[in-house]
Amino acid sequence: MSKNFSDAELEAYLDEMLPVGAMSQLEAVLREDPDTLHRLAELAARRDAGVHTLGSIWRRHRVSCPNRETLGSYLLGVLPDEEAEYLEFHLQTIGCRYCQANLADLQQRQQESNDSRTARRQRYFQSSAGYLGMAEGR
Ligand SMILES: [Zn+2]
Repeated sequence: MSKNFSDAELEAYLDEMLPVGAMSQLEAVLREDPDTLHRLAELAARRDAGVHTLGSIWRRHRVSCPNRETLGSYLLGVLPDEEAEYLEFHLQTIGCRYCQANLADLQQRQQESNDSRTARRQRYFQSSAGYLGMAEGR
């Protein structure tokens, strides 16, 4: 049952950037697997020594975080496959909480604007129906 965690995932754990599910999975592995624990300890020691891996720099500066337009296109399903795949990797595998929060926010806004569009359409329909009714009554 023990899953192999990559260095990137262990780094994410140290940064507290691992999704909750993966985090408890990793903690279970750490209790049973001295090798993984050893690797984690080594990574932590390397970081304390001021050596930064690409991964930690990447996360610290959010170099590869997509912008809101990209996230918006992703939500609308109009992003090219390659970019969508990268985004899913970024959101799910890396578990970037910053982008997850951003995406959730965008999702909510899109939902709200859909709701208000529907409301507008209904108002428009009602007023045209009213207008037509009046016209017919003449
Ligand atoms: Zn991100």
